[in-house]
Amino acid sequence: MTQFPPVPSYYAASANRTPARPALQGTCRADVCVVGAGYTGLSTALFLAEAGFRVVVLEAATVGWGASGRNGGQIVNSFSRDLDSIERQTTPDHLRLLADMAFEGSQIIRQRVRDYRIRCDLKEGGIFAALNPRQLKHLESQQALWQRFGYDQLEFLDRDAIRARVGTSRYVGGAIDHSGGHIHPLNLALGEAAALESRGGVIYQYSEVKEIVPGPTVTVKTADGEVRAEFVVLAGNAYLGRLVPELGAKSMPCGSQIIATEPLDEAIANRLLPQDNCVEDCNYLLDYFRLSGDRRLIYGGGVVYGARDPANIERLIRPNMLKTFPELAGVKIDYAWTGNFLLTLSRLPQMGRLQDNVFYSQGCSGHGVTFTHVAGKALAMAIQGQAERFDAFASLPHYPFPGGRQFRVPLTALGAWYYALRDRLGV
Ligand SMILES: Cc1cc2nc3c(=O)[nH]c(=O)nc-3n(C[C@H](O)[C@H](O)[C@H](O)COP(=O)(O)OP(=O)(O)OC[C@H]3O[C@@H](n4cnc5c(N)ncnc54)[C@H](O)[C@@H]3O)c2cc1C
Repeated sequence: MTQFPPVPSYYAASANRTPARPALQGTCRADVCVVGAGYTGLSTALFLAEAGFRVVVLEAATVGWGASGRNGGQIVNSFSRDLDSIERQTTPDHLRLLADMAFEGSQIIRQRVRDYRIRCDLKEGGIFAALNPRQLKHLESQQALWQRFGYDQLEFLDRDAIRARVGTSRYVGGAIDHSGGHIHPLNLALGEAAALESRGGVIYQYSEVKEIVPGPTVTVKTADGEVRAEFVVLAGNAYLGRLVPELGAKSMPCGSQIIATEPLDEAIANRLLPQDNCVEDCNYLLDYFRLSGDRRLIYGGGVVYGARDPANIERLIRPNMLKTFPELAGVKIDYAWTGNFLLTLSRLPQMGRLQDNVFYSQGCSGHGVTFTHVAGKALAMAIQGQAERFDAFASLPHYPFPGGRQFRVPLTALGAWYYALRDRLGV
């Protein structure tokens, strides 16, 4: 399957055992057909299966092959654009619902891990690290903003407090979200797939959807079979390609890259991250890192607009890692990989309907581990006739990237360059 090559990630190399899941052959019926077995698809499918629906998931590659099995593993509350930005774009009723959901995804993940005994190295505590006083000030307002919406788990860290949690002198301060944390992302996806199957859901792998024929019963076609379903949920995100051109018009696939070191000496690992928290800095093009269950440093960063695969990931990311932790100069990099997330112009996720019975959710713009779990709940509730949460997301306005398909990549890269320059200058 050259179109869906295996991912050379640390996660793939340390994945829990998972059953073989064959391709769809022939015709089958379902209440709901979900396209894509990342967190969005699996979360939706699991909520529906728990509610008694017959669910079939069609995955072009394997469970978690997309961003859900490749990401930084950081459980980050709220959305890629925060509630103050949403407040300016929606009604008070929708804002209230969106604010509740902003802090719910992290709890859904914990509940899944608990209820289905998912082994995914769940650790508590996520740090936002400020590289300059402007970013520190922004974190202060973020804390006040989240408090205004009733969330009190974000604790401010001064220079000494962050130094006690992250072994680098780069940061002037930060904040720790006590209900943030981190996971082995692929093992979370695999655990959710197993949970779905334990509830009677069916997953077909190697089953790329080629065509969707609308109607009161929707027909979802793959090369060797089809699913006839009352509802369809499109959860292909950055990997959906051109299957549904409308969904590509206001979004852009982007790559992010990650390296994983060899397992570190315990003393070094404890010096870098003594509390085993995960960290993301506050730059527009941010760095993110954490320790794995077997004490490797997993360090990510970089954005490739338009999602071309970079030639040498280690050369791209390692200098950033050494800027943060110079003492890792002699440490070997065992794995390097890239993955695609879907960017929207507003950096807010897109949820909606293509027809009455065809739903989609996509475009978490880099922070999707928690959102995708909330999205699954909102989509499942909408299919059950309770669409308030879904409508709150669907009401957010979205616009095409300037420049159209031809110029949106260079224009967005230029915009990002401007923000990255401001970060470097600390203004
Ligand atoms: C490198 C990287 C690091 C990241 N780090 C973080 C992080 O630390 N914290 C965080 O919150 N977010 C992070 N993100 C974002 C987060 O991973 C994503 O937002 C989230 O996983 C998206 O989940 P999804 O299910 O919507 O999409 P995906 O996980 O990409 O799943 C989509 C699936 O749909 C399948 N598919 C597509 N088209 C078809 C088709 N036609 N037929 C059948 N199947 C199809 C694909 O094969 C794929 O498996 C990161 C993303 C990347 C790429």
